[in-house]
Amino acid sequence: MLNQRSKNLSPSPTMAIDTRAKQLVAQGVDVINLSVGEPDFDTPETGKAGGMAAIADGFTKYTAAAGTIELRQAIGDKLRRENGLDYSPDEIVVSNGAKHSLFNIFMVLLDPGDEVLIQAPYWVSYPEMVKLSGGTPVIIKTDAQTSFQLTPQMIERHISAKTKAIAINNPSNPTGVVYDETALRAIAEKAAEHGLLIISDEIYERLTYDGATCVSMAAISPDIKRRTITVNGFSKAYAMTGWRLGYAAAEKPIAKAMGELQSHCTSGASSITQKAGLAALSGDQSMMAAMRREFDRRRLYAIERLKDIPGLDLEVVPRGAFYVFPNVSETFGRVIGGRSIESSDDLCSAILESARVAIVPGSSFGSPRHLRISYATSMEHLREGLDRIEHLLAGDRQFATSS
Ligand code: PMP
Ligand code: GLU
Repeated sequence: MLNQRSKNLSPSPTMAIDTRAKQLVAQGVDVINLSVGEPDFDTPETGKAGGMAAIADGFTKYTAAAGTIELRQAIGDKLRRENGLDYSPDEIVVSNGAKHSLFNIFMVLLDPGDEVLIQAPYWVSYPEMVKLSGGTPVIIKTDAQTSFQLTPQMIERHISAKTKAIAINNPSNPTGVVYDETALRAIAEKAAEHGLLIISDEIYERLTYDGATCVSMAAISPDIKRRTITVNGFSKAYAMTGWRLGYAAAEKPIAKAMGELQSHCTSGASSITQKAGLAALSGDQSMMAAMRREFDRRRLYAIERLKDIPGLDLEVVPRGAFYVFPNVSETFGRVIGGRSIESSDDLCSAILESARVAIVPGSSFGSPRHLRISYATSMEHLREGLDRIEHLLAGDRQFATSS
């Protein structure tokens, strides 16, 4: 019954594990959810008020498919002010989340067989989106030896006559790596040398630590800006995951095609959400700084805790986003929670079943020797989740059998 496209599709593991964890919690099972990358903070009051005013004022009709002009202008102002990027409103397309922006990008850029370079560990949806759009993902593996960073040489080795674009996520989900300007420039120049487009997903740009800062890919030079599609959104910066609001900025023909595609699929983002996003973007930003400080506190806590948990080796200290991504290969061959561990998938299953903590196996990110723990949750949950994992891995008898 289903077509080949659906048969080839694997569901988003981050969404699937989160849904499962939330179901268990709703059934009264005491699960600590460290799986999904979703800030536990509330949407800022400014954003909520903007959404409520939109409803009260009857701003409840279709908007322009690419987003309201006032929101695109405000996004343009933000990109100019914070990222040093000059985009006009007709170079900006507002969508139902950055995930949707990325999907639009691949849909308007890729012809069958076009290859897109993707760095592994990658965010779960990139390869699937490329495949859904008819393209071929070409995975470039990186590991701790190169601090999970791409180099121009790695790119060179994976280029073919069919390579059309490279997707970069900086700061990175799941590794937390933040590229410095020199490394980013080297990648950009290699991409330019081969005439590639660059998809720069900067959704975690505000979440950097230890003095790291996110340099926008398109700010490297005017030539790089012309070949870059900048992606960002409101989910992480403003804790607005459920509102579904993201955007892309690109040269006019690309932006125009994305808007037109969207005009047939969703008719654009919700009018209410757009007003909420506009209010969040234009309002007091102090809550965002407070959120970042709290994430940093949890990050430092998680880093310290991992040092004492046998089998979880945090090879590279994350300086961005809100994840830790330890290597767990030391546990392979052990029996944990009554389960013989051969992979990170086995370990995550044992941790969920025996310790009741939901986390995401590295295989979901193209890195089967690792797992991802999100610290976008309360300190209390993080502490409890890490306690449980530590007890399980230390062979604590309370967790010795699978429940
Ligand atoms: N890019 C990355 C790297 C992400 O982690 C996420 C997860 N939310 C997204 C894009 C999409 O975010 P959203 O659709 O909620 O804006
Ligand atoms: N991006 C977040 C994560 O990686 C949210 C889930 C998703 O969009 O896949 O967990």
